[in-house]
Amino acid sequence: MPPIRTPSFTRRELLTAVGSATALSATNVAGSSETSVQEATLHVRVYPGPVSVFTWLRNGWSHFVSGWFDVHRDAMAAVETALERIATYAEANSSLDHVETSVEACDPVDFSLVTPDSFSLFSQEALLDAFHEEVHDRQVNMGSTCHLLLWWNALNYDLGYGGTRAPNTHVGALEGEDSQTIANLGATEAWDSRAVTRNIAIHETLHTFLSPDVVEEVVDSRCDHNLGTAVRVDEDTLEVSPMATAYAGPDEYGGGTRWHGTGCYDHDSFAHHDGYEDAENWEYTTELSDATLEATTLYIERYLA
Ligand SMILES: [Zn+2]
Repeated sequence: MPPIRTPSFTRRELLTAVGSATALSATNVAGSSETSVQEATLHVRVYPGPVSVFTWLRNGWSHFVSGWFDVHRDAMAAVETALERIATYAEANSSLDHVETSVEACDPVDFSLVTPDSFSLFSQEALLDAFHEEVHDRQVNMGSTCHLLLWWNALNYDLGYGGTRAPNTHVGALEGEDSQTIANLGATEAWDSRAVTRNIAIHETLHTFLSPDVVEEVVDSRCDHNLGTAVRVDEDTLEVSPMATAYAGPDEYGGGTRWHGTGCYDHDSFAHHDGYEDAENWEYTTELSDATLEATTLYIERYLA
């Protein structure tokens, strides 16, 4: 069955549609133009999940009805800004003529996603599988889209700050199959800060626009996290960029983020790491490292153009 899009669309999509129509008519007028235009779109659909009672109380009734709370909007805005930055960089530093971004706010996902009999509430794999099924049930699988679930479970060790479903770990990895990824905002909000929430939302999304081959070309390592940076901005402060978030400090409780990530990392292979000795303050910037911009650009050229 062909994918069916939900009737909702973003301003950006509308502009894309208008842009496409303009491009088409320009081609018709030109007749037989020999130059082919290299285009690509970074498409992300964002789904809020259930939130804690405290989050309900801090927000208004309209948030409760829509299922979209301030924390979800902040996370989505961070993703949108990061993708726009990548698109701008890619247009200036690659063979691509035009890179479009589309970040859609989708209807919420509720607790019916998880089944009590499989304990999927506390299994990252089961949660990702259930989210994958939800995307297919909604008939919004498009082949090269990232579906980002903003989940809420502060005590889920297996999920941690988030994770991406395998084997469709990046969009385009499997023919006709999108990617599904989860950012656990319940964990980032409970244990860390809104700055970490923003960075993890970007981090989990960008995993789906990166593959080991492009990462290796940039940092000589096949691990996405090594694209990140930890830069000493003063004597005792390290500033961490999104792909290094949860991986920049020592592997111990409170080393950087409250919990350390469980994926691959090697500080010696990081795009830049100033060392965490004497670092008492950790700051999180949503600015992407040059290595991240370069690797995602290579990814777009290779897999999305
Ligand atoms: Zn990661």
